[in-house]
Amino acid sequence: MTQPRSCSVNARACHVAVIGLGAAGLVAARELRREGHTVIAFEREKQIGGLWVYTDRVEHDSVSLEPDRTIVHSSIYKSLRTNLPRECMGYSDFPFVFRPGDGESRDPRRYPDHREVMMYLQDFSKEFRIEEMVQFETEVVRVEPAEEKWRVTYRNSRGVSGEETFDAVVVCNGHFTEPRLAHIPGIDSWPGKQIHSHNYRIPVPFKDQVVVVIGSQSSGNDISKDIATMAKEVHVSSKAISSNSYVEYTGQKNLRIHPTIYRACEDGSVVFRNGRVVYADVIVHCTGYKYHFPFLETNGYVTVEDNRVGPLYKHVFPPALAPGISFIGLPFMGLQFFMFEMQSKWVASVLSGRVKLPSEDKMMEDAVAFYGKLEALGIPKRYTHFLTDPRGNPMLGTFNPHDAAVISQSDYFNGIAEHCGCPSIESWRERQYNVAIKKLFFGGDSYRDQWDDDQLIEEVYREFAKLNA
Ligand code: FAD
Repeated sequence: MTQPRSCSVNARACHVAVIGLGAAGLVAARELRREGHTVIAFEREKQIGGLWVYTDRVEHDSVSLEPDRTIVHSSIYKSLRTNLPRECMGYSDFPFVFRPGDGESRDPRRYPDHREVMMYLQDFSKEFRIEEMVQFETEVVRVEPAEEKWRVTYRNSRGVSGEETFDAVVVCNGHFTEPRLAHIPGIDSWPGKQIHSHNYRIPVPFKDQVVVVIGSQSSGNDISKDIATMAKEVHVSSKAISSNSYVEYTGQKNLRIHPTIYRACEDGSVVFRNGRVVYADVIVHCTGYKYHFPFLETNGYVTVEDNRVGPLYKHVFPPALAPGISFIGLPFMGLQFFMFEMQSKWVASVLSGRVKLPSEDKMMEDAVAFYGKLEALGIPKRYTHFLTDPRGNPMLGTFNPHDAAVISQSDYFNGIAEHCGCPSIESWRERQYNVAIKKLFFGGDSYRDQWDDDQLIEEVYREFAKLNA
């Protein structure tokens, strides 16, 4: 096979396909156009926003295992508020500030609800005329090499198919739609109902039930408390709890936290590793998602193994296919929108020839060295794209890379900035994120509504004012 490349080196403008118009695809489209490329962005849904387009709809298969199911993209629940303060969540030159306007009801809170994020993305899209580049209700069904380029085959909502050849394809399809389930011994004969958080919207269906929630990260934490407002009892299974402990949650009397599940039994019981047994009606898996690229044919150059997408140079470029194929937004945890923007600037500048990537061999060496480092630290492949300083992060439960941060997100941003000559993370954003992440893990229930970094907020708004000056 001839390995497809992108537009020839030093060429100014490439014809680029962007797949998906969530927060990643929006900024990718903007940066690509800014750099002089022509962009066609394909979006399966009727509107931009991706994950932030809330819907009451859920999938017919409550654990989303059926391969032919009709996919509902969004995974957000009705009560969702952001888990980061809005100031550090936005893109660098379009602050996520409260913009009262158009008579629409907006949420001025520092940790706003999901509608406010959606409106922010709509504002961004309007400001930078992103929709001019988008083909809505058009799903990309295949991306494959075609001579030196990439052929994109798509199908629209009327069932009409088409194809077009591009110099490069930027993959922004999100990674919160294909659920990962916890492995529970005995689950096949356990008679209760199971759902994945992807299909959770509101607590009403759990009225008076006994519910086990697996996972105590952001979604598990929110969802268990949401369900506890209606359920008889909620039992959270958490990796952060040692095997002989048991915590009665003080905020809600019907909420208890256990270590992981030992097994589920035919009689409906669920046995935790602390020896406690509950007879549960439902298990809710808040256990994360899998990377999934059903449309992508790379002849084995890119694979997904135990949730590692690889090999990739710095989470973005597959060495053998760069820069014709790139991925925006794979790393999780951390400053997502800012990261999308940095990665997009990098991809755009590499495609235009303004910035050069290392040779394929060097990129591969870098990727292999990174994977080797993870392995040496005992970090499972599925944490490859965990982009935050892992020190002191209780979410990482089963391993403890305390003294050896593999890479912090600021190092990652600095590396990209240095390479593509763009500004790196602002000092205020880094400091605010560090405060926010501690509050997220250790701030208790009030973390979204109580804070003590007012001085930092003032500093941030002074910086925002300079952007408009
Ligand atoms: P998505 O928003 O998922 O967008 C992907 C887009 O691709 C979708 O529009 C989809 O329709 C489209 N698409 C997919 N496949 C195709 C195809 N084949 N053809 C055409 N189009 C396709 N981050 C924060 O910063 N703050 C938060 O508070 C926060 N809360 C979160 C809460 C939850 C429950 C979850 C799951 C994540 C949260 N995140 C949060 C992280 C989230 O990753 C980002 O905020 C971000 O919105 C993801 O953007 P994305 O563009 O990568 O993906």
